[in-house]
Amino acid sequence: MNILVIGGGPAGLYFSLLAKKKHPDWAVRVVERNAPDATFGWGVVFNDKTQNYLRDTDEPTWRDMTAAYQTWDNVDVVHRDTRISIRGNRFSGIQRLAMLQILQKHCAAAGVVLEFGRELIDPGDWKGYDLVVVADGVNSSTRRTLAAHFQPDIQVRPNKYIWYGTRTLFHGLTLTFRPNEHGLWIAHSYKFNADTSTFIVECDPVTWAAAGMDRKEEPAARAYLEQVFAKDLRGAPLLSNKSAWINFQRIRNAHWTHGNMVLIGDALHTAHFSIGSGTRLALEDAIALFGALETRGSVPAGLAAFEAERRPKADDLQAAAQVSMEWFENAGKDMGLHPMELAWVLMTRSGKIDRENLARRDPAFVAAYEAWKAGGGA
Ligand SMILES: Cc1cc2nc3c(=O)[nH]c(=O)nc-3n(C[C@H](O)[C@H](O)[C@H](O)COP(=O)(O)OP(=O)(O)OC[C@H]3O[C@@H](n4cnc5c(N)ncnc54)[C@H](O)[C@@H]3O)c2cc1C
Repeated sequence: MNILVIGGGPAGLYFSLLAKKKHPDWAVRVVERNAPDATFGWGVVFNDKTQNYLRDTDEPTWRDMTAAYQTWDNVDVVHRDTRISIRGNRFSGIQRLAMLQILQKHCAAAGVVLEFGRELIDPGDWKGYDLVVVADGVNSSTRRTLAAHFQPDIQVRPNKYIWYGTRTLFHGLTLTFRPNEHGLWIAHSYKFNADTSTFIVECDPVTWAAAGMDRKEEPAARAYLEQVFAKDLRGAPLLSNKSAWINFQRIRNAHWTHGNMVLIGDALHTAHFSIGSGTRLALEDAIALFGALETRGSVPAGLAAFEAERRPKADDLQAAAQVSMEWFENAGKDMGLHPMELAWVLMTRSGKIDRENLARRDPAFVAAYEAWKAGGGA
């Protein structure tokens, strides 16, 4: 089998690794437009379930990734200068670049051909392969070229966000709410290696415009946000890595395949970063696609099975991400809540976690919340 993979992100690399490792006689070629050590952004997070999938699918890469992880089990909600910690939520953070380099190393060792610094945009380049895996990310140019076939549904969401790093270590997924004269600023932060945290700032478009962000250069925006979150950053600066304000794009596709071409990862579907599942979706797509090809034994049957089996699971995750994203888009209406109530609302926002589930995760938090309620909730 002769396979072309467009895009060397987590989805493309992980699929290539699985395919080449199981079938050394297959030709697997990954074309990535960037250099191997170039990546936007900082760290990403995984939950325990994803860890188990990765361990069961390819233990050597999982072991290398585990060595690079920071782990925690708390979600912290910071509101009105009060921090509420909710335990029992195990997550791991890893630097995106470290993860990609681990995947690149294992791909190279397995014999995958990795070609960097080349952008594949000419449809002529897709010809002559038995299978073309389209893993070129949220702004996929391949999906755009073949839009008539894939029929993408792209929703540009109203909130603005910007992805920074910082040397302040946030132990646990920390959600910080800082209202000021311009509106509400929300930070999503977590450590991803021994000395760095991801620090994503999100706000609604009214807040963004009121603060004059449309007229500020990035360094001025950064200085402004360092002031807003001065207490949380404990005086440390925010670190930029080509950071820029963007709007989240919610991507779906009516059709996942076209002939011998198949979309995976962010090119296929996105999940809002507030549930930390974009990379999870990408890696699980890769596992599901490889599994479907293996069990069906031919490209057409494998691609049909991939879509049929994977779509309901991906839809489910996207639905949970949608609820979470909409909660953050409307968080301003809950700023009158006591920190305890806000923490409760946040933990149960997706409808997937109820009182019983929360009590299993963190009985002390549920007891404290119920005692506070019983005492009048003031
Ligand atoms: C602010 C923010 C925070 C996030 N936080 C998390 C998190 O906490 N947890 C999590 O799991 N996910 C998170 N994500 C999402 C995560 O980064 C993506 O979901 C994930 O990287 C998707 O993997 P992918 O392989 O599909 O795409 P990508 O990682 O985007 O990789 C696509 C690759 O294709 C390359 N490419 C594009 N076009 C071409 C072309 N024509 N030819 C060749 N190469 C091409 C690109 O350079 C890129 O390397 C976050 C995303 C953002 C923006």
